[in-house]
Amino acid sequence: MHEEYQAKRDFTKTKEPQGNSRKGNDLCPIFVIQKHAASNLHYDFRLEISGTLKSWAVPKGPSIDPSTKRMAIPTEDHPIDYAWFEGTIPQGEYGGGTVMIWDKGTFVNINKDKNAAEISLEESYQQGRIEVRIEGKKLRGGFALIKMKSGKMAGNWLLTKMKDEFANPDYDPVQSETLSSESGRSMAEIAAQES
Ligand code: MN
Repeated sequence: MHEEYQAKRDFTKTKEPQGNSRKGNDLCPIFVIQKHAASNLHYDFRLEISGTLKSWAVPKGPSIDPSTKRMAIPTEDHPIDYAWFEGTIPQGEYGGGTVMIWDKGTFVNINKDKNAAEISLEESYQQGRIEVRIEGKKLRGGFALIKMKSGKMAGNWLLTKMKDEFANPDYDPVQSETLSSESGRSMAEIAAQES
């Protein structure tokens, strides 16, 4: 299931999970957003769908302003265990740089068809329209991921906050919240403690 993930990595050099242990749980799927100081700083947005973490690299990170769309570039499926990974990938290895668990929690699928019937997460992913309500420590409420199907950005997705009580155009969590939701550490502390 994670051949592409495994082929990119040398597990004698990186402490990232090898991806053959933890099982998924579709009743209470998880999400994680990892701040990743690779060659270009970005936020990896991952949703548990069909036993894997579907993944997107979001260069600017999530916004909670519904009028702001953030580019989300799809990346390879990651094993469920990856949601617990915080540390530093050695320089020279794939994705070399420090990884912080910026936010983690659970989510529910809120994508419905015209008859108000639920569209499954797998189907949502295949159709290129995902709507979830997340319950994290930093972020809450509805988020949509929409795949662009034409134009020069075709194949990339857009991440947007849906309008609800957790939307706020005047607050930027990426700028304001800079510590790990799991360990409380800063990027510099994670980097220092890993070396
Ligand atoms: Mn990344």
